[in-house]
Amino acid sequence: MVNLADFTPEELENYLAGLGEPKFRAKQIFSWIHKGVCSFDEMTNLSKSLREKLSESASVCGAKILEKYPSKLDETVKYLIELDDGNIIESVLMSYKHGFTVCASTEVGCPMGCRFCASTLGGLVRRLSPGEILSQITLIGADSGEKISNIVLMGIGEPLDNYGNVLKFIHLVNHPDGVNIGQRHISLSTCGLADKIDALAEENLGITLCVSLHGADDKKRSEIMPVNRTYNIERLMKSCRAYVKKTGRRMIFEYSLIGGVNDTDEDIDNLVKLTHGLICHINLIPVNPIKERDFKSSRRVREFCEKLERRGVSATVRRELGRDISASCGQLRRSKLKGCDSE
Ligand code: SAH
Repeated sequence: MVNLADFTPEELENYLAGLGEPKFRAKQIFSWIHKGVCSFDEMTNLSKSLREKLSESASVCGAKILEKYPSKLDETVKYLIELDDGNIIESVLMSYKHGFTVCASTEVGCPMGCRFCASTLGGLVRRLSPGEILSQITLIGADSGEKISNIVLMGIGEPLDNYGNVLKFIHLVNHPDGVNIGQRHISLSTCGLADKIDALAEENLGITLCVSLHGADDKKRSEIMPVNRTYNIERLMKSCRAYVKKTGRRMIFEYSLIGGVNDTDEDIDNLVKLTHGLICHINLIPVNPIKERDFKSSRRVREFCEKLERRGVSATVRRELGRDISASCGQLRRSKLKGCDSE
């Protein structure tokens, strides 16, 4: 079975040609898929015989909504999404002043091993296809009835470990005949695969690059993020600087504050040095303690932010949404794997 959500309009044309169907059907099917329609039966402008023929060899979404958890504290909704092979991923719908944002997963599990992160505890199961990433947006758009205006690739998985599929997803979701979300409204977050950042810089995209820094010297960063042993901070910053220079886009560093680990004045000094002269913003995230590890939240989040700002580094504290629904990715899927409900 092929998943038609993986296809560009041109690939759909070829597929349909193989079935002896005219080209214009491709645009119709592409448009249905991007509206979040998940069965051929709902594609009412296709003949019944074509719908039957398609359903013999193809699927439409590759995924379905399994459960949803609306927050009682804000408008955040966490979705558990089941892929056709039974794997489960998480996506989150968030409401901001400027519209609705979906936080999408790019892999089932994650190979990167960051110490504080729930998504990586069971390792990588598999990478998502472009259509499986897309379906998170279209399913949530259709389910909520809201127009999704922004996407953050900050769910489960490491987007740059699934480079080709993530890139194709960006082109699919950006297509004018589809969901049509502008590249400037898409953010991609990486733990720091520097060689892939170099490759991404060459793609000519308008997306926002976010890098999970979380440590401002190699010793600390290597302890919490194993990726730092492959690409240390100097190597990573070289790629970040080259990316900003090549794309002209401001980039974002994510920095999860862990009490007593990376929230000292020395860390502030190091962050100031690292980001000197770079067009960037630091997004401070109060670490969300996971039960498998003993990391504690920092009591210095505001102070840390103010000190950075005073030293000329643009910084904000990320608003915490959906705290009551384990909206930080990875936590809900894990509790599901263990067969217990988290809330
Ligand atoms: N793999 C990508 C994207 C996924 S995670 C990356 O590493 O950037 C999105 C962000 O949440 C990353 O900055 C990640 O480091 C952070 N994160 C993961 N677990 C967290 C936790 N328990 N508390 C705070 N931030 C966390």
